[in-house]
Amino acid sequence: MIQIKSVSKSFGPLQVLKKIDLTIEEKEVVVLLGASGSGKSTLLRCLNFLEINDSGDIYFDGELVQPSKTDLNKIRSEVGMVFQHFNLFPHKTVLENIIEAPIHVKGMKKSEAKEIAYALLDKVGLTDKADEYPDMLSGGQKQRVAIARALAMNPRVMLFDEPTSALDPELVGEVLQVMKQLASEGMTMVVVTHEMGFARGVADRVLFMEEGLILEEGTPKQFFENPQNERTKQFLNSIL
Ligand code: ADP
Ligand code: MG
Repeated sequence: MIQIKSVSKSFGPLQVLKKIDLTIEEKEVVVLLGASGSGKSTLLRCLNFLEINDSGDIYFDGELVQPSKTDLNKIRSEVGMVFQHFNLFPHKTVLENIIEAPIHVKGMKKSEAKEIAYALLDKVGLTDKADEYPDMLSGGQKQRVAIARALAMNPRVMLFDEPTSALDPELVGEVLQVMKQLASEGMTMVVVTHEMGFARGVADRVLFMEEGLILEEGTPKQFFENPQNERTKQFLNSIL
């Protein structure tokens, strides 16, 4: 579904991505691990063209995305993104947060957008919060709204950037549960997380990044039980 070929990205003198190659298959769940500053968020942001890579090529469905020619808003609407800090609109209700992009980006009728929003709120277990403002919700509820909002655009792939890192520990499970359900329904997902239980249990493939390189990848079993790279071993020792 997505193919990245030799993608590099620098911020000033700092090269954050160093000729990354990566293919993501349809329905695959890829978990991206790595220390802070290794380039994980930048890689996700390049996948959704919030950042534009300096060199290398990104293909969607075999088609090269050329930022100067391709309609990036169309690609962005097909790539849902969930952030650590939810990024909900504080002055809009839960329902209004969810229907905003379908109406304004996709030109959907309000009645249709609402119908989809209620179905998604049901899916994330928050039907009763439709008319609340984000301030009234717990972190876990906010993140579930953020997931529903991303899904409202009917994306082909979902990117998660440390979706549970800002949550109190007791709220992590409800968000992971929603992500797990999405994965089981066949959503293509790329997930940056420190939740090793999720990586082991849900990922099809685990990647380890360091200093802008993918140093190791494998199935969860290979990756956690028999890591090959010295740096991967050190990383796993530091967190497990
Ligand atoms: P990670 O998500 O793995 O923690 P990031 O992709 O956020 O890593 O960042 C990788 C490096 O790039 C860090 O050193 C960070 O400070 C730097 N960086 C990220 N975004 C920017 C930016 N917009 N401008 C300058 N430096 C950035
Ligand atoms: Mg990050």
